[in-house]
Amino acid sequence: MSQYDFDLITIGAGSGGVAASRRAALHGARVAICEGSRVGGTCVIRGCVPKKILMYASQFGEALEDAPAYGWQFGEPAFDLAALIAAKNSETDRLEGIYRRMLADGQVTLLEGWARIVDGHTVEVAGRRHSAGRILVASGGAVSRPPIAGIELALDSDQLLDLTKLPEHLLVLGAGYIAVEFAGIFRGFGSRVTLAFRGERPLRGFDEDLRTRLAECMAARGIDLRPGFSPVRIERRGEGYAAIDAEGREILADAILAALGRHPNTAGLGLESVGVKTREKGGAIEVDPYSRTSVPGIFAVGDVTDRAALTPVAIAEGRAFADTEFGGRDVAVDHGLIATAVFSQPQIATIGLSEGDAIAAGHDCQVFEAGFRPMKNTISGRSERAYMKVVVDRASDRVLGAHMIGPDAAEIMQALAVAVTMGARKADLDRTLAVHPTTAEEFVLLRTPRG
Ligand code: NDP
Repeated sequence: MSQYDFDLITIGAGSGGVAASRRAALHGARVAICEGSRVGGTCVIRGCVPKKILMYASQFGEALEDAPAYGWQFGEPAFDLAALIAAKNSETDRLEGIYRRMLADGQVTLLEGWARIVDGHTVEVAGRRHSAGRILVASGGAVSRPPIAGIELALDSDQLLDLTKLPEHLLVLGAGYIAVEFAGIFRGFGSRVTLAFRGERPLRGFDEDLRTRLAECMAARGIDLRPGFSPVRIERRGEGYAAIDAEGREILADAILAALGRHPNTAGLGLESVGVKTREKGGAIEVDPYSRTSVPGIFAVGDVTDRAALTPVAIAEGRAFADTEFGGRDVAVDHGLIATAVFSQPQIATIGLSEGDAIAAGHDCQVFEAGFRPMKNTISGRSERAYMKVVVDRASDRVLGAHMIGPDAAEIMQALAVAVTMGARKADLDRTLAVHPTTAEEFVLLRTPRG
């Protein structure tokens, strides 16, 4: 019998923590998981899932607008945000129930309360101490609130997901994933939306052709883009608010969303007291490829390590940890090739190197691209175009990156990601027969490189 209460205590029942705990239990470990908030974590409770429900809701407006061109007729449509939020809440409640059941069925003990590491083998939860052979920190991320005077007047994405009254004018600060997704969602609901950000274009780090096209599409959908705006102050103005930059320029709105990034959620964990090293910049827990921290027996996965703050990455890291520590098989996650999607409207999806990054990495590249009006937009008269791009290493013919903006980009990229992960060459795309008529087929019909 082990000297400890458990073989593993996981801190945080989000995507990474739950995946690691269940996999470890499957390998025969005695596992407990601590959660101070709701089981399911950011993705299920206040991230990917509720966001996507709101995104679906917001797209009905466009469908209703297009429908008459396809022969449908309706009365005057109306939108009830409170009804949507109630439906969203009942879905996240249902999913939380499933997560709780999965833990129980997987023989994982749930310890409810905020956890604090006492020493290398002890965790305190709700005033009680529990010991374990290993501790896994999977405490996720938290909303960042940069030092902008009055930032507390702005909403964060957690709060926006629970809004029941639609703001007439929403100002979104920032231009990362969360900012562009919520800008599109609230525009779709009918709010006037302003997107103000300090850069030139939204989504720094993505391929420049996607960034430019997204900015054009958002503007064409009625979003007021204000590049080069870096707020220093937020103030109340009557019933609404004003964001003000260093030159005194103001943007007025009924509500402000601050989507200015997230940071590793390490507050209160007691990491310093046991000597777990964190990165000076940003505070992420430092880990090796096997998710080992600087303290033997303490591990970390997911957003708290800031390797790539994405659900599937956290899950993969959690399972790799469990397989290595309890399954007798060393597994490290390859972070080199991660497909990702931004549920902006239109969607963006991408895998591998952008054209700029491929050139910067020294590749002699060929670029294949296609831009066209999706068939659905022809009858409805929408002018929005889809765009896809494949970046190829000229010498090896290897596909270095694939990028898309347009309808169903996320779904299309998931399938293409298999080929790219397998090391597809451009010739492999060329010999693939098209599925017709689709948008996705353009990825296998690109023949002439950009001159
Ligand atoms: P991001 O890091 O994507 O974007 C942060 C934004 O805030 C950037 O535009 C950044 O500007 C800006 N910013 C940061 N600090 C300041 C400041 N002091 N003043 C002005 N602007 C500032 O963060 P998000 O919060 O949007 O998302 C967090 C993470 O969550 C993402 O990185 C992603 O990994 C994950 N996520 C994934 C989703 C998905 O998979 N679809 C959806 C939502 C989130 P700049 O670019 O100039 O630095």
